[in-house]
Amino acid sequence: MEICRDTEALNIMIKEAYQQAKFGKVADYIPALSWANPETLSLAIYEGKSMIATAGDTSETFTLQSISKVLTLAMALMDIGEDGVFSRVGMEPTGDPFNSIIKLETHTPSKPLNPMINAGALAVTDMIKGNTVEEKLGRLLAFIHELTGNSAITYNNEVATSEFETADLNRSLAYFLKQHRVVSSDIECLLELYTKQCAVEVSCEDLAKIAFVIGNEGRSVETDRTIIPLHISRIMKTFMTTCGMYNASGEFAIKVGIPSKSGVSGGIMAAVPHGPGIGIFGPALDEKGNSIAGMKLLESLAHRYDLSIF
Ligand code: GLN
Repeated sequence: MEICRDTEALNIMIKEAYQQAKFGKVADYIPALSWANPETLSLAIYEGKSMIATAGDTSETFTLQSISKVLTLAMALMDIGEDGVFSRVGMEPTGDPFNSIIKLETHTPSKPLNPMINAGALAVTDMIKGNTVEEKLGRLLAFIHELTGNSAITYNNEVATSEFETADLNRSLAYFLKQHRVVSSDIECLLELYTKQCAVEVSCEDLAKIAFVIGNEGRSVETDRTIIPLHISRIMKTFMTTCGMYNASGEFAIKVGIPSKSGVSGGIMAAVPHGPGIGIFGPALDEKGNSIAGMKLLESLAHRYDLSIF
């Protein structure tokens, strides 16, 4: 692919994106995330056998946060099927911030509008099969190990605990959902699993590899195995496109047009259908919670290499 021979252009794109970071702010509502260095920016682009482009310190790790929502969705779909999942969570974008409670009250029946907002993700996490939090988390980690080929990946306990102790808004969403029979687990166990899934620690190279599998029909080129059934990888990409960048998904679809999912740690995972997987880490966020430099970088990449799906 062209990108690998285009080092000079890539350096310019990185510099321009980097300039944007000063307009952003690291997330601090989860105390442990506030320790991130806002001036970090790293990028990895993977094309099935190798990284075709990297920039910054690609070994630096960060937590998945909302990026985990795409992966738990895939697991729930594999565990209980489409009918089971979509009887408890919808398919529509909300236009509201990711942690909003408002549409849960104004919509009847009270089911979260999609799996990419916190309410929907909590409902999806509740669907994952397993007898204990450890067993469910172990299954999620095994799935991530297979997607990345990196069996060292685990969760960051400090970040998980920091979020668990301060997750009062997510707790209220979960209790609301339990009252309306959308979730059935013990809420503290659900919150433990959810905060641990959000705290799974990866590098942008790991993200690029996961994105590659999602972009390429769920198949790993490295192992020649189908890790995610085709129809599920399609559902994942569709939600990434319609809801993956929270309430900035519409603008992002116009400016970038690559199915992507971001997290408040500053990660963005972008899956070009039948193309490369892209992982970015830039913890300075805009007011909607997306990596400000990461979005700028994706916009430049999409433009220069014609990566939009539209
Ligand atoms: N763990 C975070 C939360 O629930 C994830 C949010 C995000 O990345 N947007 O608030």
